[in-house]
Amino acid sequence: MPKVTVDRERCKGCGLCVAACPQKVLEMSREINSKGYFFARPGVQPHCIGCRICGMNCPDLAIEVAVNGTRYNFFDY
Ligand code: SF4
Ligand code: SF4
Repeated sequence: MPKVTVDRERCKGCGLCVAACPQKVLEMSREINSKGYFFARPGVQPHCIGCRICGMNCPDLAIEVAVNGTRYNFFDY
C-alpha cells in the first residue's frame, strides 16, 4: 500500500497538496510547526493510490510517497 509522508518542518501550509490530491487523502493539521504554519498531513492514508501528484505540487519539497518499497521525493536530487 502506498504511504505518503509530509515533513512538517518543511511545510508552509499553502494547501496546494490538499487541493491536488485526487483521493482527498491530505488535510491541514490544526497543529503548527516551529515556524508557525499549519502543516499538511495524511488524513485518510488508506485511500492513497501512490500517484505522487501531491509531491509534484508541493513548492517546498515537503512530501515523500513510498510505493512498493520505492521512496519518491523531490529533494534528494
Ligand atoms: S500520492 Fe496521490 S493519492 Fe496519495 S496522497 Fe499524494 S496525491 Fe493523494
Ligand atoms: S503543498 Fe507542500 S508546503 Fe503546501 S501544504 Fe502541502 S506539504 Fe505543505
